Amino acid sequence: MGEFRQIKRLVVKVGSSTLTHENGMVNIRRIEHLVKVLSDIRNSGKEIVLVSSGAIAIGVGKLGLKEKPKDIPGKQACAAVGQCELMYLYDKLFGEYNHNVAQVLLTRDVVENSARKENVVNTFDKLLEMGIIPIVNENDTVSIEEIKFGDNDTLSAIVANLVNADGLLLLTDIEGLYTANPRENPDAVLIERVEKIDDYILSVASGAGSSRGTGGMITKIHAAEIAVPNGVNMWIINGDNPDKMYRLLDGEKLGTYFKAYEKQ
Ligand code: GLU
Repeated sequence: MGEFRQIKRLVVKVGSSTLTHENGMVNIRRIEHLVKVLSDIRNSGKEIVLVSSGAIAIGVGKLGLKEKPKDIPGKQACAAVGQCELMYLYDKLFGEYNHNVAQVLLTRDVVENSARKENVVNTFDKLLEMGIIPIVNENDTVSIEEIKFGDNDTLSAIVANLVNADGLLLLTDIEGLYTANPRENPDAVLIERVEKIDDYILSVASGAGSSRGTGGMITKIHAAEIAVPNGVNMWIINGDNPDKMYRLLDGEKLGTYFKAYEKQ
């Protein structure tokens, strides 16, 4: 394994900084391009689950706020507005390629309770069986500290495990994992392949986030720690040009690849 084109069930996570401009308004060209490529990958026979951030950022942009609110109710209000806009856009754009989408909003307590988790798994299974593309986000409007996933990198890894995916693709605003933060250190080198998530990998992953997302590199490594031991191959690539997904399909080595551990 290790070949992107062999993946059968793929979870794709896209971050706020990929979907929005710096002022929080939707990056229309990017989202249209992303949906087009994902639709084509779906057409090629792969099953896709999309984990999409962007609700809060898009809510901020739509409401014309100067910055993201600092208080929880303010963020939740933005998420409520933005999630609606986000799904409207995905429904419209995927619809242009004849794909149906479904909204799945999750909180941590749902997947930690076995009965509720089983319901979620059953729903995902049914949606995928029907050829639908589930679009997942954290249920930000009800999500308080105790029940939060915290960030969508973690959420996407949990979703990959829930749906028994064999691939997880994180689209972000940096090429992959570097030996140092490339925004501060010109000698930083891209790490192309990770076979084992050890202390070295954890130590180089600090502090490469951007202002519009909540993650950074360390949350992506934590995502790998959740997914990779469960047989999920993971890639981190730059989502600046969704055509990069075609290049991965064509066998090119892009970004950072985390090899799935053999399932015990
Ligand atoms: N759920 C948040 C949103 O849609 C994003 C969380 C994240 O990007 O990690 O705005």
